[in-house]
Amino acid sequence: MSGEVRGTESLVEKPQTLAALRGEIASGRVKAAELAASYYERIERKNPRLNVYLSLTKERAFAQAERIDDLAAKGDPLPPLAGIPVGIKDVLVMRGAPSTAGSRILQGYQPPYDATAVSRLEAAGAVLLGKLNCDEFAMGSSNENSAFGPVRNPVDPERVPGGSSGGSAAAVAANLAVATLGTDTGGSIRQPASFCGVVGVLPTYGRVSRFGLIAFASSLDRVGPFAANVRDAATLLGVIAGHDPKDATSSRAPIEDYAAESDTPVEGLRIGVPEEYFAEGLDPEVRAALEKGIDALRAAGCTIQPASLPHTQYAVPTYYLIATAEASANLARFDGVRYGYRSPHSATLSDMYSHSRDEGFGAEVKRRILLGTYALSAGYYDAYYLKAQQVRRVLAEEFQRAFAQVDAIVTPTSPGPAFKLGEKTDDPLAMYLADIYTVTASLAGICGVTVPSGATAAGLPVGMQVLARPLHEGAAFRVARAVEAAQI
Ligand code: GLN
Repeated sequence: MSGEVRGTESLVEKPQTLAALRGEIASGRVKAAELAASYYERIERKNPRLNVYLSLTKERAFAQAERIDDLAAKGDPLPPLAGIPVGIKDVLVMRGAPSTAGSRILQGYQPPYDATAVSRLEAAGAVLLGKLNCDEFAMGSSNENSAFGPVRNPVDPERVPGGSSGGSAAAVAANLAVATLGTDTGGSIRQPASFCGVVGVLPTYGRVSRFGLIAFASSLDRVGPFAANVRDAATLLGVIAGHDPKDATSSRAPIEDYAAESDTPVEGLRIGVPEEYFAEGLDPEVRAALEKGIDALRAAGCTIQPASLPHTQYAVPTYYLIATAEASANLARFDGVRYGYRSPHSATLSDMYSHSRDEGFGAEVKRRILLGTYALSAGYYDAYYLKAQQVRRVLAEEFQRAFAQVDAIVTPTSPGPAFKLGEKTDDPLAMYLADIYTVTASLAGICGVTVPSGATAAGLPVGMQVLARPLHEGAAFRVARAVEAAQI
């Protein structure tokens, strides 16, 4: 019967595409407020085990949902994300909501403003459900560095979801949000997306405003979307991308129509496969799954050709010098005075600074502050930080040369599938080394998408990383869509 409101359980139990959901809301068959309530009900059931959400923003979500329902009732045109339930990584600030960055030191901090990516989502009609768990200050690859406990991978709860945006990836995988925002400094969107079997986007540096992002390493930090499919991720990027006067590094370049790009066939595209990314250390099952993805691209009419990125092996040390150096400077602001936690155990001001930082920061964050401070100190600066900047330039030029021959480059997103909780926590170096395939694109400033490309025999998802030249996200979406369509 026309005008009848449809039950939302079926929509939540069986995930729908963004376009389908929006259509239901526009027609009035589904109320945005009921959809939000169904998501919250599902979160209540699943979150105690998965630990995906750190806090919920129900009041704001329902106010927005009711606005959307009013618009729909009046027959007014609806914005592109009307009524779509979205979750936000807890390193992006939301007015009046707890924003912890996964750290005890920010416990109790309630920012008075919204991050630009957050306000753009809301202006486009999204219903913001809450804040998502992550590694402390986005430092990590497993979400085990969160002060509020690890996230579990919905595919196998004994395994990590990846990190640092583990909550953002797991929320989409468990359908506790239709889409989410995360951040990626050295792989933190791409690697968890690949571990959880969802799509994650690394936009070009400067494509999405960093205003309102609690900084880790400012020359590397990027904000990007997660979604269950390529087209939804492309739609979200279209909403959050663009120049922002509040972020001086944000680009003024025109924005492609990402959703339309993702609908464009790949026939005739040249795809580079760099041998350095398929060498020693790659799990054989991951390699096999990716080879099927590459075969699918060939079958869809792409030309597959070798690419050469010979300095790849220097990327991990380069990244961990630059990222820690910038982190040591960025994290100096957490001093117990302005935000969050202040140690009660201090007699003097200087005690208060050091006790607040000692009690507020976790072990990995302290390790990085120490490493970064060392790399920047007089006498070591030239040997470490300056050298790392030079290698960074070499890596960027190497990609530029490679992209003169090809439209996109495909690689593994991570050398292995999701590992077990606790498996790598005693060995930070092993954890760092596994970032090998993601940190290069971060240093080079290029963009990319990770898309599921099959699974291991045990059913663990494998991600293919599709890289494209700066500001050519559209090409990455096209290639990712073709891999998705092949249903490997
Ligand atoms: N795993 C990397 C690190 O620990 C990347 C983190 C990120 O991208 N925020 O630094």
